[in-house]
Amino acid sequence: MTDNYLLLGAKKRLIDELRQKGITDENVLNAFDKVERHRFVESFLWDRAYENTALKLVNGQTISHPYTVAFQSQLLKVQQGDKVLEIGTGSGFQAAILSEMGGRVFSVERQQQLYVKAKQLLEKLDDRIAVFYGDGFQGYPRFAPYSKIIVTCGAPEVPPALLEQLMIGGIMVIPVGDASHTMKRITKIDDDQYEEETFGDFLFVPMLKERVSVKH
Ligand code: SAH
Repeated sequence: MTDNYLLLGAKKRLIDELRQKGITDENVLNAFDKVERHRFVESFLWDRAYENTALKLVNGQTISHPYTVAFQSQLLKVQQGDKVLEIGTGSGFQAAILSEMGGRVFSVERQQQLYVKAKQLLEKLDDRIAVFYGDGFQGYPRFAPYSKIIVTCGAPEVPPALLEQLMIGGIMVIPVGDASHTMKRITKIDDDQYEEETFGDFLFVPMLKERVSVKH
């Protein structure tokens, strides 16, 4: 019980910090209030779950920095009923935020171990999220087109399959680059016409090709 009170206080402080850093979309801030980030990390990390830092998952992967999750979610302008494709499920935290914002989320993860873990967790927490084991460079054609696409790993370039699977009028938020990643927001105006905006540099784990299964 005491633990829960401490975590609640830490969550409120994190939301204040996000506000101070320029997150103004109430839909994003409300989702950060509803989704419990500590459920997405190992229990020995619970006391750090609401710090504004990235944390380690299995296989050297990370749960993104809360500010980065909030920033990407704000750029994506998720609205009730949006069909959202996420590339890089990781812990499942970003997917849970997008779902809480009103999106119907389809999330793809290339690392089998992370996929299995996130799928189990999200099935318990939120039945509006579907998780798939796949290579995000291919998108997820089965449920295309999507009104929103978010990539949560650093892409070497914008994958053509993702542009194809975006609805006309749809928005994609994707960090692009090699050493550091420039946050881009791409709006699909027409089948071969896109508008691109950039929003500064971030550090992500790299987007890598093909699915992998790591055995212990
Ligand atoms: N959205 C996650 C962030 C995880 S870090 C969260 O909220 O926790 C980025 C994730 O992208 C890692 O889990 C990594 O395995 C995954 N990834 C990297 N390349 C990928 C690809 N080609 N397809 C799908 N996932 C990929």
